[in-house]
Amino acid sequence: MFNFVRKVTLFQLMNLRKFKADRIFTGKEFLSGSWVLTCTPEGEIVELTEEGFDTENIERLKGTLCPGFINAHCHLELSHMKGVIPKHTGLIPFLMDVVDKRDFPAEHIQEKMNEAVDEMYRDGIVAVGDIGNTANSIATKANGQLVWNNFVEILGFKEDQFDRIRQEYGHVLAQFRETENNLPEGKFKSSLVPHAPYTVGTKIFEWINRETRNLTISCHNQETPAEDELYGTGKGEFLKLLQKFGSKESPFPITGKSSLQSWLPHFNEQQKIILVHNTFTSAEDVDFAIDHAAQSLSGIYFCLCVNANLYIEDQMPPIEMLIDKKAELVLGTDSYSSNDQLSIAAEIRSIRKRLPNVPLEMILRWATYNGAKALDRLNSLGSFEKGKKPGVLLLDENLTARRII
Ligand SMILES: [Zn+2]
Repeated sequence: MFNFVRKVTLFQLMNLRKFKADRIFTGKEFLSGSWVLTCTPEGEIVELTEEGFDTENIERLKGTLCPGFINAHCHLELSHMKGVIPKHTGLIPFLMDVVDKRDFPAEHIQEKMNEAVDEMYRDGIVAVGDIGNTANSIATKANGQLVWNNFVEILGFKEDQFDRIRQEYGHVLAQFRETENNLPEGKFKSSLVPHAPYTVGTKIFEWINRETRNLTISCHNQETPAEDELYGTGKGEFLKLLQKFGSKESPFPITGKSSLQSWLPHFNEQQKIILVHNTFTSAEDVDFAIDHAAQSLSGIYFCLCVNANLYIEDQMPPIEMLIDKKAELVLGTDSYSSNDQLSIAAEIRSIRKRLPNVPLEMILRWATYNGAKALDRLNSLGSFEKGKKPGVLLLDENLTARRII
């Protein structure tokens, strides 16, 4: 404590803020209302202690104090698509609609991205794992108050276009990295990522593996049963989407295995991998992924975007099975093309409504500590620990979040 206090300025010391509430969620567990959270005016955690004799200047709040939320999966550059795509069409018609309808005037896209960042800030989100196929979101992200893991998402399964793909997405990544160098440390972390097993070919997977040693990456995973069918048999509904891109038959290896068991072994460079959606992932595949991660990765995370799954497929992911398997879960909002809001609090409420037996403490951990771990930001975010600046939220009884700091 003494060593740390010497590092904060006299001004900060005189203006420390102390909070008490009905209870405190630390990032890992609930503490009772007898605990006091002390932080600098800027939100750097000084200590979390039980209330003693010094009760002066404590701000007493109604509700639960909680570290800022981590949105592990979003597509900021699709923020202009709110209400554009009809609900419950299933994944493949959904994807075809996104491809057909995503072009809008650039100013309109910029305006909607700015609004989306403001909305996420108000919801208590402090960090975002954000997918982009372009560099369009750079200025919006650099100016706002959130921190970003920029996932430069590659769509490319035509092996003869490997050089073009590598050049195009390498250029997008270079723009993010260049901006990163001029921003405060940690504001941006940027990496290449595959979009999904049905849009990325073997050569590209292998290239992404080589380029992402020790980094966090993500991949959309098993959002529809057709994905397993594509790898298992080379047939199924995905052929319709592939035809749109000029492929008459599946360009992917027919492995006789699930898609996850077919592509995940391409990665063996100690990445942290966030598998997104997992709506149709089997228990056997979860075992496979956890085993593979233990040998070749530094972590595997299963991201739930429940409101998006309900929007597109009207289907919940197998949350209870994932809990049974002790999978590490994180939460995401996906984009406005498949969600009515970009709110982690709303994702938590949806899970609570459908699975009231899953403890709130567990879900809040997914939304805070686990998300920070997956995005490699545990040094500053995800929990109320001395020296971190994780954001301070107050949750009311309806699980609405309000930012305190
Ligand atoms: Zn997505």
